[in-house]
Amino acid sequence: MHRALITCLWLCFAALAAAQDHTQLVKISDSIYMAKTVSNVYVVTTPEGSVVIDTAPAKPAPEAKRLLAEHVHGPVKYIILTHGHADHIGGIDLWKEPGTQVIAQRNYVELLNYVTRLDGFFAPRNAAAFGRPVEQAGPWPGNFAAKIDPTILFDEKYEFTLGGLKFELFSTPGETPDHLTVWIPAYKIAFMGDNYAGAGMPEPMSFPNMYAIRGTKPRWALDWVKSIDTVIALKPQILLNGHGDPMTGNAEITRRLTRYRDAIQYVHDQVVQGMDAGKDVFTLMQEIKLPKQYDLSEVFGKVSWSVRGIYDGYAGWFDANPSSMYALPASTVYPDLVKLAGGPEPVVRLALEKIANGKPVEALHLTDVVLAGDPQDADALKARIQALEVLQKDCENFVEEGWLTYGITKARKELSSSAGK
Ligand SMILES: [Zn+2]
Repeated sequence: MHRALITCLWLCFAALAAAQDHTQLVKISDSIYMAKTVSNVYVVTTPEGSVVIDTAPAKPAPEAKRLLAEHVHGPVKYIILTHGHADHIGGIDLWKEPGTQVIAQRNYVELLNYVTRLDGFFAPRNAAAFGRPVEQAGPWPGNFAAKIDPTILFDEKYEFTLGGLKFELFSTPGETPDHLTVWIPAYKIAFMGDNYAGAGMPEPMSFPNMYAIRGTKPRWALDWVKSIDTVIALKPQILLNGHGDPMTGNAEITRRLTRYRDAIQYVHDQVVQGMDAGKDVFTLMQEIKLPKQYDLSEVFGKVSWSVRGIYDGYAGWFDANPSSMYALPASTVYPDLVKLAGGPEPVVRLALEKIANGKPVEALHLTDVVLAGDPQDADALKARIQALEVLQKDCENFVEEGWLTYGITKARKELSSSAGK
């Protein structure tokens, strides 16, 4: 992928989250409109009132509502949340009227509690991943402190009819365990949240994030596969996603969803077969590649991270090495290794050789060894910045790009504070 496009995707993602003037109104049909923003908001009108599907992040939500307002007929009877990620639930209060029912799949409650429970953990990681300043988390709110808006929670399926129009809601876990798909049989339209095109990527679509490295529970591959099958079986003519543009035509929708599903299934099965053959997670991260036939980029989700996500999701943290059973990590003895090498200089020299020989990751590990003993060793920090910049030059994934930038910024900060001493 072109560096300019990655930067664009990265900037678009970060900038759109804050901007409001990118919000556009899109007509899907006479009774369905979309506010296209960092994550889409849909309004479906019926003779007896309207249904809102997803509500955007808090910042662009008022603009999305303003654009959609003239297409809302009668009271807002239902707000449906395809899942509980912040970029879909930020505008709930703007749409809620007396008597509005808010619908979500039952796992929404735990998803929101989980995110709130670990806010202090996620806040700096989200800030690092998206290049934002860290917002100070408040005191620990406890285990069950999330604001839960839904008034209707369902397990497998929920349906209602409004103004003669039937809405069917299916539990379709994938990117999150609470994902749901909204199906309007009369229009053959499905709304599938972020289970496809998690970040609204243009073709060739990206492989999904089976594990988002900002930190998440494993996203279960086989659930995701089954959920995509559920949507394919509905035979939609129009597919509306949480991000990006509508997809139209059943043949094209089926082609793209099938490709996506098969890619997830392929990676999952390769991991499981590798595990059963006794292979360790790092071997599989190196070995498993997506066959060309799937024609999916790794701009958003990285296959190697997904391999590890699936492996660790099944097996947890223990790697069958007795050394790993104890609280002392390998890095405890890094300063001893530096001493054995005769000081940091030869280790840093080796790191620079690795960079010159196209092995920037090995160089990074070597700088870890030096910095474990002295976090402000200037030469090790400089080598580290070089290694990170080399990795960034070839980076195709905008999440990885964000973390590399974070690493460079952090090393530069250490370097300037070491120079001040
Ligand atoms: Zn989203």
